[in-house]
Amino acid sequence: MAYTSHTSSYYAASANNKVDRPALQGAHETDVCVIGAGYTGISTALFLLEHGFRVTVLEAAKVGFGASGRNGGQIVNSYSRDIDVIERTLGAEQARMLGEMAFEGARIIRERVAKYQIQCDLKDGGVFAAVTDKQMSHLEGQKKLWERYGHTQMQLLDAKAIREVVNTDLYVGGSLDMSGGHIHPLNLVLGEADAVESLGGVIHEQSRVTRVDQGAKAVVHTEQGQVTADFVVVAGNAYIGDLMPQLSAKSMPCGTQVITTEPLGEELAKSLLPQDYCVEDCNYLLDYYRLSADKRMIFGGGVVYGARDPADVEALVRPNLIKTFPQLKDVKIDYAWTGNFLLTLSRLPQVGRLGSNIYYSQGCSGHGVTYTHLAGKILSEAIRGQAERFDAFATLPHYPFPGGRMLRVPFTAMGALYYSLRDKLGW
Ligand SMILES: Cc1cc2nc3c(=O)[nH]c(=O)nc-3n(C[C@H](O)[C@H](O)[C@H](O)COP(=O)(O)OP(=O)(O)OC[C@H]3O[C@@H](n4cnc5c(N)ncnc54)[C@H](O)[C@@H]3O)c2cc1C
Repeated sequence: MAYTSHTSSYYAASANNKVDRPALQGAHETDVCVIGAGYTGISTALFLLEHGFRVTVLEAAKVGFGASGRNGGQIVNSYSRDIDVIERTLGAEQARMLGEMAFEGARIIRERVAKYQIQCDLKDGGVFAAVTDKQMSHLEGQKKLWERYGHTQMQLLDAKAIREVVNTDLYVGGSLDMSGGHIHPLNLVLGEADAVESLGGVIHEQSRVTRVDQGAKAVVHTEQGQVTADFVVVAGNAYIGDLMPQLSAKSMPCGTQVITTEPLGEELAKSLLPQDYCVEDCNYLLDYYRLSADKRMIFGGGVVYGARDPADVEALVRPNLIKTFPQLKDVKIDYAWTGNFLLTLSRLPQVGRLGSNIYYSQGCSGHGVTYTHLAGKILSEAIRGQAERFDAFATLPHYPFPGGRMLRVPFTAMGALYYSLRDKLGW
């Protein structure tokens, strides 16, 4: 089998460790076999190990190869869809349960970083930036909504206040969430993987799962081995391909792109983001950016529906960087890469069970750093027999994209064009 390495990102270049874990060989048994070593898989494995389960993780490429090792590093609370939509469509009780969990992922990350001493450049403070007055009204509404669910830490920023945290003319205001923040995403998942192994968990890299035989005990196959397990957790998200056609039917992989500048130096970096918060704007096709520990600007944006890799990532993203910070017009871009997240039509995650013992969570539709950590907890609770919080997600209704597999990409791109036009016109 061909060796698959990390994408050539800034994160891979600055990873804390570059160990290679052996591929699965031969037949093995365990309590839980996890497919995929991103945040969802590794977080689930860690919670289960903390409760005494034996766990084997099978990863097609490298720990953090997928979105978890190449994302914007922004710890964004809540989901990719506001709770009021859940209130309107599913009722107050389900909204209450999901609303209460909306900030738990960030807490889990901080607890993990502290407990396992993970070096991942964790910084507090995340800003949502409003480009239009309509977006500012939305943030005001969101603050009230979050407060109804007991999350009172969001602070509104007027035009002057946002200028003090982001040195650009683009925004009319924003909001600040100090329970948000940012991390080196690959080093987070690598640190969590080390924690898995420190508790006796087993991780095999270069071990793509090719088939899962369902049964009272499931058998998970790779090219060179197999694992028999009481439970399986499917955590392949946008990189899963056709392993589980049931999971691909109602979701769509999408690419988003990130560029990283050369180091800017302390002074220039501080002049752009004086408090070192991370920022995302409120546009439908959003820009997200932050400083790295060595003071580079890490700037992401753009979406390619259907997850085709764009030929020139820098050409795609650089204009947005320069529009936001004209001060960087001559800056050199050291790294540019693309990664896939999984979109669902509702923009809410898909969680559930196939048969009695195969669990999955996927499709957090963009904001996944915190949700995937929560997902690990609720999946592990369900496997331990406490399914109340799992069921709050598992009962969310999900629908296929219009146009089916053939036409979902152009139809969704047309929808996105419509929404981004509305952002531009301020409707
Ligand atoms: C460029 C980019 C920027 C983003 N920025 C942010 C951000 O700033 N903030 C935020 O909250 N979210 C962000 N996201 C989303 C977030 O990164 C994801 O939601 C999250 O990392 C998903 O984690 P995961 O573990 O479910 O999937 P992944 O991290 O994609 O992991 C899935 C893993 O499963 C493996 N796999 C797949 N199939 C198999 C198989 N058959 N056998 C074995 N292994 C398999 C893959 O190799 C992969 O390693 C971003 C996403 C991208 C792509």
